[in-house]
Amino acid sequence: MGSVSTDVALIAKVSSDWSRMSPVLQEKVPPGRYLADVVVRPALPEHVPAVLKVAFEHDVPVTPRGAGTGNYGQATPFDGGILLDLRGLDSITVNPTGTVTAGAGARMTAMDKVARAAGRDIWIFPSTKSSTIGGFVGGGSAGTGTIEKGTTSDGYVVAATVAPMDGSGTMVTVRGEDLTPYIHTYGVTGILVDVEVRTDPARDWAAVYAAFPSYDELVAVHRTLLDLPQLPRLASADEPALVPTLPAPVALDPARYSLRVIAEASTVDELARRVHNGGGEVVAVLADYAETDRLSGMSYNHPVWFLQRAHPDRSWFHMETGGAPLWDHPDAVRAVYDGPVHLHLELFRHGPGAMVVAGYRGEEAVLAGIPELEALGIGVHSPHQWYVDRNVGLATETARRTDPKGLLNPGKLTSTPPVDTRVNIGVR
Ligand SMILES: Cc1cc2nc3c(=O)[nH]c(=O)nc-3n(C[C@H](O)[C@H](O)[C@H](O)COP(=O)(O)OP(=O)(O)OC[C@H]3O[C@@H](n4cnc5c(N)ncnc54)[C@H](O)[C@@H]3O)c2cc1C
Repeated sequence: MGSVSTDVALIAKVSSDWSRMSPVLQEKVPPGRYLADVVVRPALPEHVPAVLKVAFEHDVPVTPRGAGTGNYGQATPFDGGILLDLRGLDSITVNPTGTVTAGAGARMTAMDKVARAAGRDIWIFPSTKSSTIGGFVGGGSAGTGTIEKGTTSDGYVVAATVAPMDGSGTMVTVRGEDLTPYIHTYGVTGILVDVEVRTDPARDWAAVYAAFPSYDELVAVHRTLLDLPQLPRLASADEPALVPTLPAPVALDPARYSLRVIAEASTVDELARRVHNGGGEVVAVLADYAETDRLSGMSYNHPVWFLQRAHPDRSWFHMETGGAPLWDHPDAVRAVYDGPVHLHLELFRHGPGAMVVAGYRGEEAVLAGIPELEALGIGVHSPHQWYVDRNVGLATETARRTDPKGLLNPGKLTSTPPVDTRVNIGVR
């Protein structure tokens, strides 16, 4: 049955994730504090319900894990037990309808490669493209493709095979609206064994790098990208303070504001015209598809991580936000936190989102900023807590049936999370 390991080093490694990006979580869930007792790695889909049946009978908690890139500690095995490493389930099939079905442990890089070879574009993938589809649907949300397609909750998933923790040792196929309690709920309602996701006919994409002398000029172009003839796949932007640590393939001017767009090829000239007319400069247009991946790898949480990596002596935190004031009143947003505050922008269908990046001065100061941001009309999602924060009521109701003993990923589902994180930050 796949593999079972009690190797101490392996257990330590897979019992933590990327929660170290949050100084708050670094204190609360440091590597080594919570450890699984055993790592089970299924090799076949049917191994998953078989493991769950045994775990149910013996009241053993099970925490699912893909690549472990989740940044909220949500794959931490708080109550020990089995760490279910799903990376062995990595089959990938392009279906006659064009959708792609993949084992929960398939890497999205591999899925995209197979899909592109078949002439298809997977709707959305995260900036951590080497993460797994089970982890992305189970714990992720948005990324490259989100401007057009929304989040993982917006029709991305066609169907999923789910193994419940109810002692039945079965798997069920879930489709359509019934998928809701299984998306972004950290596996507390069941283990995703395989997932079928939507694709479009493949398009030609280009990685476009532009630079602007000021925030206002950057924003004036960023906000027009929603009416390009074809929506970009991604439109990330950074203040100069975040630019030097970006691992770009072209030299980026550390004194200017960086705009990076994955644009559909036929829109590149129009984009370049807008950049030029808006006082900016197109630094590079790279048509190779691999370059769009490289650009994607500098989006979402990544600029925060690059800053943290370059300055290990300083402690930075970020808050995930959305709303027009990020474009219109950036100084008011920056004033919420002390010291230098930097904005990494993304584009969503309904406006901008941003990682608000500031120096860490304790959890209290981090949390105190949330109502202040909200008072400005900004939606906030806190990446400093591990609780299920989407469709909590439905997840709770579903888990009563699919996990009556509460053995799946314990500690992540509560109907009263300490910080209200159910705020719409603009991606949905
Ligand atoms: C630098 C950085 C950048 C990031 N950028 C993005 C981004 O652009 N967009 C985004 O959405 N996220 C982003 N993330 C968060 C994370 O990388 C993604 O959500 C990623 O897709 C998670 O996949 P994973 O395989 O690493 O999952 P894991 O971290 O292993 O798991 C994530 C969650 O899903 C659960 N889970 C894992 N597998 C299953 C399964 N088969 N069934 C049920 N539940 C399961 C886990 O228990 C956990 O709760 C980023 C994180 C970092 C550190």
